[in-house]
Amino acid sequence: MSEKNDLPFKSDMVPAMLDLGSKLQFRCHQGISCFNACCKQADVTLTPYDIIRLKDNQGKSATEFLKEHTVPFRMDKEGLPGVKLRTTDEGACLFVTEEGCSVYKDRPTACRYYPLGHMSMLATGAKTDESHYFLIQEEHCKGHQEDQQQTIAEYLKEQETAQYDELNKEWLTLMLKRRSMGPTVGRPPEATLQMFFMCSYDMDRFRRFVLSENFRNTYDLEDSTYEVLAKEDISLMQFGVRLMKQAFFGERTIQEKDGAWEQRVQQREEVWEARRQAEISRQQQEEDEKYKDA
Ligand code: SF4
Ligand code: SF4
Repeated sequence: MSEKNDLPFKSDMVPAMLDLGSKLQFRCHQGISCFNACCKQADVTLTPYDIIRLKDNQGKSATEFLKEHTVPFRMDKEGLPGVKLRTTDEGACLFVTEEGCSVYKDRPTACRYYPLGHMSMLATGAKTDESHYFLIQEEHCKGHQEDQQQTIAEYLKEQETAQYDELNKEWLTLMLKRRSMGPTVGRPPEATLQMFFMCSYDMDRFRRFVLSENFRNTYDLEDSTYEVLAKEDISLMQFGVRLMKQAFFGERTIQEKDGAWEQRVQQREEVWEARRQAEISRQQQEEDEKYKDA
């Protein structure tokens, strides 16, 4: 196995590999002595689909949601940007109430999985990844002492993870592939990392970018595709993954217009030339100032 990808990105894992048929002894319920303890020390990494569900739940735009409810962090040493749920200074999730989770029907993937960690592994040369699970056992969580036993498959069904798994898959695979390529791909330029942030998390800004004249002049897409991207968040999220495959791995996932590449190079050259001329005039001005009083 060459690489792994973890969800939720948590510590304190007991590193025993589990699969869907493995038994899980665990039960979480309102009457338990630790009720809400996990949400009061929340460390929840969000996927793009989590953000769509949560921002819709809150009736906010993605940009507003990111600003008010998340904190950015670096997911790996190459600086790949991630976002976590914002907490209070004491570490409590902003969505926890005395009655429990106030966004329960739209709670993030990591909250649904808990106390399981999900690990996808991509064997060297393999096209598809394999899923494995870990048990996360934390001191404050008393759910492990309950009698209820079920398989991991049953537990995940109860937590309704299927739709999340389906819609997270492409994005997680993108990161898995990036990591599995390791140093061969190197640290992406800052502009690519910012692009990854926008495509992955900030649907509003990404939508404006995709619908811009510049974008339309570069990519060869049908009008009907633009119509879908203008109104459907999930299609836009999936389109973002395609665009990032192009940016990270040079895959031709979105057809460019004839001559678009050459046009971009020419535009860039014009910008560089304008910058060069500005720098020459600035230096000339400095020289003139130096000798003015001589
Ligand atoms: S989103 Fe809900 S389940 Fe997840 S940490 Fe916050 S309160 Fe807990
Ligand atoms: S049993 Fe575990 S998951 Fe459930 S409320 Fe307690 S700490 Fe949270």
